[in-house]
Amino acid sequence: MKAMFKAVSPNVDFPKLEEAIITYWKKNKIFEKSLAKDSPRGNWTFLDGPPFVTGLPHYGHLLTSIAKDLFPRFWTMKGYHVRRVWGWDGHGLPVENKVENKLNIKRKKDIEDVVGVKKFIEECKAYVTQISGEWEWYVDHVARWVDFKNAYRTWDLPYMESVMWVFKQLYDKDLIYKGLKVSLYCPHCATPISNFEVAMDADNYKDVTDFATTYKYELKSPSFAKASAGKQNSKLKTYILAWSTTPWNKIVVPALAVNPKLIYVKVKEGNEYYILAKSTLKILRFAQDDIVEEFKGSKLVGMKYVPHYDYYKIEKDKKAFVIIGGDFVTAEEGTGVVTIAAYGEEDLKASLENNIHIEMHVDEEGHIKKDVPIFGGMYYLKANKAVNEDLQKRGLIYKDEILPHTMPHCWRCATRLYYAPITAWYVNVQKLKEQMKKTNEHIHWIPNHFQHGRFLKSLEHAPDWNISRNRYWGSPVPVWECRRCGECFVPESIKELEERSGQKVTDLHKPEIDEVTIECAKCKKTVHRVPEVLDSWIEAGSASFGERHYPFDFAQGKPSEGQKLEDFYPPDFIVEYTGQIRAWFYVLDVISNALYNTEAFKNVLVNGVILGTDGRKMSKNFKNYPDPKEMLEKYGGDALRLYLMSSPVVQGEDISISEEQYRNQVRGMLLILWNTYNFFVSNAIVDKFTVHSLFASQRSGQFTESKNVLDQWILSLLEKLTQDVTESLEKYDTVGAIAKLEEFITSLSTWYIRRSRDRVGPSAENKKDKQAFYETAYYVFTTFCKLLAPITPFVSEEIYRNLTGEESVHLANWPKQNKEQRTKNKELLYEMNNGMQLASKIHAFRKEANIKVRIPLRKLSYKGPEELTKDVEKIVLDEVNVYELTYVGKSEDYEVSGDVTEKNQDVEAGKARDIIRKIQEERKKLGTSLDEKVDVVIDAWPKEFTEEIKKKTLIRTLAKGETFKVSRI
Ligand SMILES: [Zn+2]
Ligand SMILES: [Zn+2]
Repeated sequence: MKAMFKAVSPNVDFPKLEEAIITYWKKNKIFEKSLAKDSPRGNWTFLDGPPFVTGLPHYGHLLTSIAKDLFPRFWTMKGYHVRRVWGWDGHGLPVENKVENKLNIKRKKDIEDVVGVKKFIEECKAYVTQISGEWEWYVDHVARWVDFKNAYRTWDLPYMESVMWVFKQLYDKDLIYKGLKVSLYCPHCATPISNFEVAMDADNYKDVTDFATTYKYELKSPSFAKASAGKQNSKLKTYILAWSTTPWNKIVVPALAVNPKLIYVKVKEGNEYYILAKSTLKILRFAQDDIVEEFKGSKLVGMKYVPHYDYYKIEKDKKAFVIIGGDFVTAEEGTGVVTIAAYGEEDLKASLENNIHIEMHVDEEGHIKKDVPIFGGMYYLKANKAVNEDLQKRGLIYKDEILPHTMPHCWRCATRLYYAPITAWYVNVQKLKEQMKKTNEHIHWIPNHFQHGRFLKSLEHAPDWNISRNRYWGSPVPVWECRRCGECFVPESIKELEERSGQKVTDLHKPEIDEVTIECAKCKKTVHRVPEVLDSWIEAGSASFGERHYPFDFAQGKPSEGQKLEDFYPPDFIVEYTGQIRAWFYVLDVISNALYNTEAFKNVLVNGVILGTDGRKMSKNFKNYPDPKEMLEKYGGDALRLYLMSSPVVQGEDISISEEQYRNQVRGMLLILWNTYNFFVSNAIVDKFTVHSLFASQRSGQFTESKNVLDQWILSLLEKLTQDVTESLEKYDTVGAIAKLEEFITSLSTWYIRRSRDRVGPSAENKKDKQAFYETAYYVFTTFCKLLAPITPFVSEEIYRNLTGEESVHLANWPKQNKEQRTKNKELLYEMNNGMQLASKIHAFRKEANIKVRIPLRKLSYKGPEELTKDVEKIVLDEVNVYELTYVGKSEDYEVSGDVTEKNQDVEAGKARDIIRKIQEERKKLGTSLDEKVDVVIDAWPKEFTEEIKKKTLIRTLAKGETFKVSRI
């Protein structure tokens, strides 16, 4: 037990205090001790989304870091073991882009032809290994406890082996296929891009201006019905009109599509006939009268037309230059006729279904292929103008307009994307959707609306997932596919690959992995790996397994962390921002449902985005946010935690960063807490209060000793707080928890401590009551620190350690709830609340009448819902400085009345109080200690209050004199 407390400075510097605690924690291995602490309730697992290695942390990282610390601290105190290992994400385009810049690589081709893949990969490795040491500073200063030293990295061999294993599981379940499909494609990075990579950030959509052109395609056999044939001039040409915004893609149009169910019309204009959907007539220049024929789209299906360009050879057995039917064709835009080429999702699907020739005329860097006449070598966007000029000249354009619209851009290099047909590896998400919808019902989403809102909606619309990239820096697609017979070998471990290839495998990266060959099981030919690497989202989606090197290390067993999948899967908790609903949360869930038919996580907290002060995205160019490091140095980590964890950003809403709101946390809760704590410790030192064994019972929550109604009340309030904070944190509701803690600290400061001021210090005489106060307040502070510990780990640590002498509040157990006491004292909470309400009405009454609180009022009357109990009334009388209160009847709210003239005022007592206050202020200025006596000279004082003045301000001699003076002895 502790003899005495360390003195507390009223002028606290929180960042300085936090710095000392960071050092203390490290030196004494408090985090390690918290991991080793007893965990009678087993494991509570959380899955950390590792940050990308590039750059420094921004507010978004700090926000999730805080949540990733807060809940593990809470559950640890609740008796669980919470593994916390840092991770780094480092594969993929961002790193390749940085290395390209460093090596001055302008084209993807140069990686192979000029630099060489080996050197390129070495540079990528070097880049990701120089991780900024600064991260640790931020992590420390937001009080995040995490094992940095043993961080896993997505480019390390064990992690990559787990990813290989995950791929194999998907492959064995027949959820992986290779196919020609259209993807968003970046011509600079020369690789397909996931739709969700683009969708994560609204900035990836940019406004562009394109041509919107109505093209003319001449029909070869233009009449439909014999009946109307006679009315038409068979010498005139008939054109079908097709509308498009991609002129570059009009170089190859092997088919046109119409909707068989739509009504189309043939109209005459000048010396030509045109065919288009009836409902789109308005876009043309002619009227209803010009219609010469009307028919269903099905009549057009199968008709032939004259192509604009026919330089390419039609593959044997394939059709070309024919009209096909398709339900996807609508008349909402354009003419109800669609040009079909390989560069569109619906286009390609329709081509494959109708056995249409597929021609790809753009190379992997977005240039029209060399062998294409006229346009060969042009960048595809440049070809737009050239194609339309050529067709205009040839009279094959009906109408040419300009169309501003929005187009996706590369999330890495900001190049405009287009849709391109790519042979790639896919996860068959369609097969998994029903299962994913079912397991989504088991996930606790916070806030809840994302469950059936954004997550379900994006799941319903999700295409199959393109998981291969035509790049270099990533986990390999682990498929050895025989070019001769198509036989595939997919290993699930390095060991299996080594056995099959007879080669030692020490690195799964290119180019080493591409030197590993096997012999085809069927045709005995030497087989190489397919060239692609995996989308790094496969790695992110495999994080639960990768970070533990599952299932490999598990075969050997790591007892401390559980040996079974159930010990860590599915994890109890994950947290990230809204952008990850369609990305990380989604890919985790795809893989989890594929592997184990289960949801990927039990509780998911979705944060909003922290925007700049002007509501725009934070940007160095806009200078629209305060530097997070400067802010942490100025106001500290506890204040940031309070600010962010109590803001709507933890309920999925976007907020603008506000230095003012951050700063207010210091002046608000933290300083109020500090001042009450300072009051307690300073008086306890003067009164020589010591913590002795009597407290053993208190600390176990059995404390009900004090007869003082204030003590009983604050203990009841604390009990209620314990219940509320526990429930909020169990529901992952930090906003609710902090609101309750703030409410409590206000009651503690403005009622409990304020009303207890006269109970302590050298002038207080009731020894028993003094002891009751200290015991109660001690219990309240130590318990409050525990409740506060997960939210503001620094200040709670400081206070708790000084009061208890224990090693750390974070090694303490979460306060137990005492239901008995709660029920017993419900009444008291209600009664005291009445007293507090009446007190505030009386303060308002005084203010209105302009009577200072220091002047006692003899008598007041009040109406209210309830008459105060005697105990509470006594406290209220003290608070409002009134001698007598009379209850005069019922009313919904409290109302106060009374005489405001001097007759009802004890003017002399008021004067005495004024003098006491004046002397106390002077004592403060002199810096006297609480028990230090002083001599006072003053011109006059009410004689009957001499003793009271002397007692309250610890005066040795009180003398009369013209000049007011307080002097130390
Ligand atoms: Zn790009
Ligand atoms: Zn073969």
